Amino acid sequence: TTAIRGSLRETEIGRSRNTDKADRATVEQALDPRTRMVLFRMLNRGVFNDVNGCISTGKEANVYHATKSDGSELAIKVYKTSVLEITVLDMATVVTIPRKMVKTWAEKEQRNLKRYWLYTCFIGRLHAAGIRCPAVILLRLHVLVMEFIGRDGWAAPRLKDAALSLDKLRECYLELIIQMRVLYQKCKLVHGDLSEYNILYFEGHLYIIDVSQSVDLDHPLALNFLREDCDHVSDFFKKHGVAVMTIPELFDFIVD
Ligand code: ADP
Ligand code: MN
Repeated sequence: TTAIRGSLRETEIGRSRNTDKADRATVEQALDPRTRMVLFRMLNRGVFNDVNGCISTGKEANVYHATKSDGSELAIKVYKTSVLEITVLDMATVVTIPRKMVKTWAEKEQRNLKRYWLYTCFIGRLHAAGIRCPAVILLRLHVLVMEFIGRDGWAAPRLKDAALSLDKLRECYLELIIQMRVLYQKCKLVHGDLSEYNILYFEGHLYIIDVSQSVDLDHPLALNFLREDCDHVSDFFKKHGVAVMTIPELFDFIVD
């Protein structure tokens, strides 16, 4: 970790007046050499000026807040590359890694990179169809730079945490089911992981995020995923007292 920290300091990434030491340490620890290289190149190209604190740490990815020289804000989603790979390679002197295993990792990595690329295509389709979602600014390997949904370093709350009135929730329910229909009819996509966790509430509107599980309509399980999305959305609003459609009604509203 000393080496990692040392080289990070050189790149200036993680430096920010507004970030305290603990935050910065978290950012530094989370970044592997390849990620730092990608971020460093972006920094040099002026994509952003500072990577600040971490907005979210997840199983598959971490999301960071970044700022540009003009003060505008960005979100950077860094997908986790195989942590396992790095650990074992560090131990290369004590263990021999079966060739087959290395091949499997390499293939998995390729599959993942393709998925991140698809993600940006999907987000583009949402954007083109007028669905509110963070626009993609740049994808380089497993690092996705996108529009920040929020203000002054504060990310918009997830729908789950937004604490909305019943009236506002009713509006949101309508807005969401219309967006689900547009997603299906215009974008020809099913989100596949739609729930109060992957929807942000900002300035009175819903923003759909995290399309990493999304599939085209020709995917053999697309309608199963849609059915699950309907379940999750209905459950959330029903739990909060909104009179929701039945699942078959909602499903038909989206696909018909
Ligand atoms: P995960 O794969 O970890 O579920 P998400 O894409 O859902 O990743 O992002 C995790 C969290 O990071 C979100 O719940 C949200 O709080 C925050 N986040 C993600 N993208 C943005 C964004 N563009 N603007 C602001 N916050 C974001
Ligand atoms: Mn998510």
